[in-house]
Order: sequence, then C-alpha cells, then structure tokens
Amino acid sequence: MPGQMRRAIYPGSFDPPTLGHLDIVERASGLFDELTVAIGTNTEKAPFLPVEDRLELLRECSRSWPNVRVRSFSGLLVDFARQSDCSVLVRGLRAVSDFEYEFRVAMANRRLAKEIETLFLITRDEYSFLSSSVVREVARLGGDVSKFVPAAVAERVRQTVKG
Ligand code: ADP
Repeated sequence: MPGQMRRAIYPGSFDPPTLGHLDIVERASGLFDELTVAIGTNTEKAPFLPVEDRLELLRECSRSWPNVRVRSFSGLLVDFARQSDCSVLVRGLRAVSDFEYEFRVAMANRRLAKEIETLFLITRDEYSFLSSSVVREVARLGGDVSKFVPAAVAERVRQTVKG
C-alpha cells in the first residue's frame, strides 16, 4: 500500500543464533522497510542461552542492517505481530522435514489472524544442514562452532559449555 511501512517479523528461538538465521535476516531485511527479529520465550524449558544473551548477540550481529530491530516476546506470535503493526511473518525453510511443521504453524496462525501472511525464504545451500541444535550438540561435544555461527556467538557458546 502506498505510503505505508512494510513491516515483517522473523520469529524463532535463536538458541543460539546461527549463520543460517543471519542469512535469512539479511535477505528479509532487503524485502521490507523494517524487520523485527522476535525471540519467542514461551515454549522454553531450559534454554541454552538466556534470552538476554540472545537479544544482545542478535543486536550485535545485525548492527550493519539499520532497518533490523530485535525484540523478545511471550504469548501468541500473531498478537505480538498485531501489536507491532506487522502483517508478514518470515520463516526459513531448510528441507522437506521443516515443511510439515511450518505448514501446520502457518495454517494455525492464519486461522488466528487471517490478515497476517507467512512468507518462506529457502535456505542458502551451504546452510541447509545448519540448526541451533546442531550447534549446541557440536559445542557440547567439544567441537569448533566458528564455521556455523558469528564470532561473538561462538565465544558465548564456548563460555556456556565450559560452565
Ligand atoms: P524454532 O525454534 O522456532 O524452530 P529457530 O529459532 O531454530 O526456530 O529458527 C527460526 C527460523 O529460522 C525457522 O523458520 C527456521 O526454519 C529458520 N532457520 C533456522 N536455521 C536456518 C537455516 N540454516 N537456513 C534457513 N532457515 C533457517
């Protein structure tokens, strides 16, 4: 719509943020006037990194994109989207295995808020295997995660597994 800001939300756990997440942030930030990276906090049992660390790391890693802001939220994503005046939800798709879950969530969100669209961006092939859980697993087993996450995240991950 002319004159209206095009705002989108990229929601997730980002526990920890990976290069795959940041690739989606970069690409989505180019498609919208404003992109909010939104860390969901309601489904967490015991997170790997506290939400404050994820906020700080995502802010640091997205500094070079001026139209990206980082927030946390609890409760329903569509409520957060409405409060933030956003009508698009961005999600990344890596493989067919992501599709079924994403499809169900997108359908549920549409039932809850039919004015909100979900937009899927396909992963870059070099990140198609990459997930936060792979990073956590490699780190816990003593592996080097610096090829999977930005340097600041790698440092925080190392401190976390060292305890
Ligand atoms: P959740 O915890 O909600 O499953 P994540 O925080 O792991 O999600 O990821 C948030 C979003 O980023 C999801 O849409 C997920 O598919 C996407 N994503 C995660 N890793 C990648 C990647 N390597 N390439 C593209 N998209 C990704």
